Amino acid sequence: MTAISELQQKHEHFKSLSLKLNMERGQPADENFDLSQKLLSAIDENNYITDSGVDIRNYPGGVAGLREAREMFCEQLGVAPSEILVGNNASLELMSHFLTWALLRGVKGSDHGWLQDKPKLIVTVPGYDRHFGLAAELGYELVTVQMTEEGPDMDAVEKLVADDASIKGIYFVPTYSNPTGDTLSPEFAKRLVNIKAAAPDFTIFADDAYAVHHLIDNPIPAPNLLSIAKADGHADRVILFGSTSKVTFASAGIALAGMSEANIAHWSKLLSVLTIGPNKAEQWRHVCFMRQYPGGLKGLMKDHAAILKPKFDAVQSALEQNLGNKNLASWTSPTGGYFVSVQCKYPVADRVIALAAEAGVALTPAGATYPKGIDPDNSNIRLSPTRPSTADIKKAMEVFTCCVELASAEFNQ
Ligand code: PLP
Repeated sequence: MTAISELQQKHEHFKSLSLKLNMERGQPADENFDLSQKLLSAIDENNYITDSGVDIRNYPGGVAGLREAREMFCEQLGVAPSEILVGNNASLELMSHFLTWALLRGVKGSDHGWLQDKPKLIVTVPGYDRHFGLAAELGYELVTVQMTEEGPDMDAVEKLVADDASIKGIYFVPTYSNPTGDTLSPEFAKRLVNIKAAAPDFTIFADDAYAVHHLIDNPIPAPNLLSIAKADGHADRVILFGSTSKVTFASAGIALAGMSEANIAHWSKLLSVLTIGPNKAEQWRHVCFMRQYPGGLKGLMKDHAAILKPKFDAVQSALEQNLGNKNLASWTSPTGGYFVSVQCKYPVADRVIALAAEAGVALTPAGATYPKGIDPDNSNIRLSPTRPSTADIKKAMEVFTCCVELASAEFNQ
């Protein structure tokens, strides 16, 4: 173990460099956006009638989205064109509609809205702060289960839902989870879809934001929750979400919801009182752009991976080199997604983040990966290496690993 005085000196040195580095939020880098630059000119004044004859300037087109957009983007969620609803710019907005309607009306097959049951949702921890914020602000009570390497801790989930009918669903990220990068295993997917829940309308809200965001070639395909649900007689239990926020432009693209055809009919009816239809100009633009991108969606995601992989590699080698064998932290090594999750051995996450901030490195706030911003162990830290340059990540990781060592040494003083 390095002496505390040496670590303090090192930290002081970093402070003197007046660094300004940010690994706080999961945003794409400008090089990622540049891949989709042609989106800005993918349609023009002569291209406003879709293949199926819809004039994108007028109302008609359907609340579930343009036919061509449904055909193009169903691939992203691994569903059929008839099983996808294409919405506006943010999957979070779509999720908020579904969670709100569920409070008022329940889901397909419910005989009443969930609000009267004082509903609870299971969420996974560490998890995504905006999921917690959205569900909690709507009034759901959040029940946490651990995210494991195979997905939500299914022993815990099965136990929780067995006799508590107020637990109405689970809300989590099935592929390359935020922040751990873990993906649901086939066994856990099967258990989840077939779960025996006291609530007859128990629903799986699976935010598949990173379904196609692989960092490696030939990844093992993640289990397809909707296919499993259909095969096992629970077709209406699964609702998948996604968007092009990290495919084309962040919150300037289109959002997706995948579900059974019966659910598409059910939810389209509800959404049709909110809107006559989503933004067809954006959907058509995305279709035209994607048609001309070499290799389509797969080609684009491969190009994203080429930009992102060296950044994730830089994080892993810094963690390995500077913290390996020191028994101060463990971390995930994801093969996709946008984050790396670091688990400190001691309850020092807030101190690590404060020390890093003093040295000019902004990290996701301590506790952000838990509901109400409270990590009971004060040990989880989310790293977001996608936006900074690889050179900046190397520097930021030097600072970060020093801060983990220093905070741990202070704790053990
Ligand atoms: N879902 C997850 C798991 C995310 O990590 C993010 C962004 O970080 C989002 C959703 C946001 O998606 P959108 O821009 O489509 O609302």
